[in-house]
Amino acid sequence: MLEVASTASAPSPLHRAVQHAQTSCIKCGFCLPKCPTYRLTGNEAASPRGRLDLLYLVAQGELAATDIAAALDFCLGCRACETACPAGVAFGELLVAGRATVTAAHPKPWLVRWLLCRLVPSPAGLRVAALFLRLYQASGMQKLLRASGLWRLAPALGAREALLPPLPPWRTWRRLPAVTPAVGTGKGTVALLTGCVVPVLLPQLNQATVQVLARNGYRVLVPAGQRCCGALQAHAGELEAARQLARHHLALFEAAGADWVISNAAGCGAMLKEYGELLRDDPRFAERAAAFSARVRDVSELLASAPLRGPLAPLPLRVAYDDPCHLLHGQGIAAPPRQLLRQVPALELLEVPESDWCCGSAGIYNLVHPEMAQQLLERKLRHLAALRPQVIATGNPGCIVQLRYGATRHGLAAEVLHPVEVLARAYGEAAGAPQP
Ligand code: SF4
Ligand code: SF4
Repeated sequence: MLEVASTASAPSPLHRAVQHAQTSCIKCGFCLPKCPTYRLTGNEAASPRGRLDLLYLVAQGELAATDIAAALDFCLGCRACETACPAGVAFGELLVAGRATVTAAHPKPWLVRWLLCRLVPSPAGLRVAALFLRLYQASGMQKLLRASGLWRLAPALGAREALLPPLPPWRTWRRLPAVTPAVGTGKGTVALLTGCVVPVLLPQLNQATVQVLARNGYRVLVPAGQRCCGALQAHAGELEAARQLARHHLALFEAAGADWVISNAAGCGAMLKEYGELLRDDPRFAERAAAFSARVRDVSELLASAPLRGPLAPLPLRVAYDDPCHLLHGQGIAAPPRQLLRQVPALELLEVPESDWCCGSAGIYNLVHPEMAQQLLERKLRHLAALRPQVIATGNPGCIVQLRYGATRHGLAAEVLHPVEVLARAYGEAAGAPQP
């Protein structure tokens, strides 16, 4: 057994994660073909096995944390390696601990920290930012700038500006009801995590989620005062900011007293399910966090635990379902979204080749590594285009935005929706309601 030296009396999260990974890893290499950054570069340092070796050297004090910053930063955090690993190496945990170690040794620039730790967790700040961006788009300024070719003078900024999704009008940002009663016989009460960017970027997604849950017998609570769940901060190595957000949501959702906590965003759901791990060294919150995480469900997971209630109108659509990494690899959920879509009459469900590959969104990866993200998106779009879908369904807001951008670029005339939005459409048509 390999021993990992630790200078502290209690092992640090990095030492603990590396110790576990090193004692489990049998160096079989099964993770390599499933790792997009390794497959596209052929570089061992861009593979899960290589990154684990680098982290081991840091834990042993043979390398400085900053020496491996680029290798960790280049990782998508998609966790495809975890699904492939026969030895149960928890790469996600290892990556979070490694990035936190790098950030502690070399703090991020203040602007990045302000964006991650101040702006993103502030609903009011995000609304103001979204209003400015909406104004930029609706005023014609965006079109003008793009047509003028000015972005060619700042290509790095221009590449990121091109990713900006169309923001919906502010009047669609209406708050969800605090309580939505169940329709028909009740099955229990759920509390919905609304997310940080979904309320301003994809407000119809939360509305559809509430509607479909209520239609299936769940009373839906939307606790006030929600902020970012902490996933973006944890994945960027800002662990203390992530822990503060976790404690905030623990208190909020405990007070709500629901049977289940529901997320419609794969990345956020995976984070909520890891609050127990995130707060395991906090004596005041460790037990509460573990109990909280045990009550978290992805919306597809809960809905698929029983047949959908009808009536659902037929939707004669070719729907390609693409797995979000943090649902498939992060939460081990593959069948539930497919089971739900198959229950919509006349809907044809299409399987996407390499559906288990990242689309390149990966939190803010597409902003930080636009070239690799673009390669992954192109690959995904080639598979999707061959299927000629009318709808692409995926259960994570970041993936929805990324695939919408890709579909537009490729001239692929397919809507990109969350599976619950497809269900909401089937319920809406059955009730004769006008569709958006
Ligand atoms: S698949 Fe798992 S055990 Fe095999 S090399 Fe990769 S991390 Fe190690
Ligand atoms: S998380 Fe994804 S990109 Fe990172 S090592 Fe694992 S498979 Fe590769």
